[in-house]
Amino acid sequence: MSDQGPKPTTHFGFKEVPTGDKVSAVAGVFHSVAAKYDVMNDLMSMGIHRIWKRQTIEMSGVRAGDSVLDLAGGTGDLTMRFSDLVGPKGQVILADINESMIKVGRDRLIDKGFVGNVSYVQANAEELPFPDNTFDCITIAFGLRNVTDKDKALVSMRRVLKPGGRLLVLEFSKTDNPLLTKVYDTYSFNILPKIGKLITNDEDSYRYLAESIRMHPDQATLKGMMETAGLVNCRFHNMTGGIVALHYGVKP
Ligand code: SAM
Repeated sequence: MSDQGPKPTTHFGFKEVPTGDKVSAVAGVFHSVAAKYDVMNDLMSMGIHRIWKRQTIEMSGVRAGDSVLDLAGGTGDLTMRFSDLVGPKGQVILADINESMIKVGRDRLIDKGFVGNVSYVQANAEELPFPDNTFDCITIAFGLRNVTDKDKALVSMRRVLKPGGRLLVLEFSKTDNPLLTKVYDTYSFNILPKIGKLITNDEDSYRYLAESIRMHPDQATLKGMMETAGLVNCRFHNMTGGIVALHYGVKP
């Protein structure tokens, strides 16, 4: 009889779960919030997520004719902007693991007339189903913290970038201002789940949101992970006092 030892575990918010269960736990969150995702984003961030995303687009350097992957693209905020930038000769792929989020995103983009240069792929960031050296730019906005094996995902992203291609990771991060941290903690753990309950009747998913943010690697750690994945010129910019950080790296 072989001793297989304890099952590997990972975190799902503050909970420790078997590693193999995290994908379905995260799927449950996004199936539940998909229909109200955009309303909640505006409410929770008081519209500030639009500024964070605008800065990401500006940093991306995307131009007409480029190939762009909006990974964990959800309801397509970044995809829409990239679709305008790359024009008819370019292409944007919105990839996401969750079919409910893709469906809301696809319907929204088609309603707004974003057709022609946008396509949709259901995929796990850890195993991207694209050939090597495909994209000029990859963005992953508020997605990486939900991924089980972040190192594997970063390597997968580097593989599908063209040499010289850019990866931009927009994600919640760590503030170093004690007063801001206190206000932010109170808001995240006491007010946010209540807004979630009111709007989506789902307090747990918004508690997971707050917990997953606290469990996500800080700015310096994520920068190191990008370097380990083989990206160069890695750097980050804090936004809103470090509540959010935009990490940038290039495939050599
Ligand atoms: N990027 C969009 C935005 O900024 O509004 C959506 C962000 S939403 C908070 C996170 C998205 O990550 C969800 O749509 C979820 O399905 C997706 N996601 C979670 N784990 C993933 C994975 N392993 N691979 C790809 N997408 C994933």
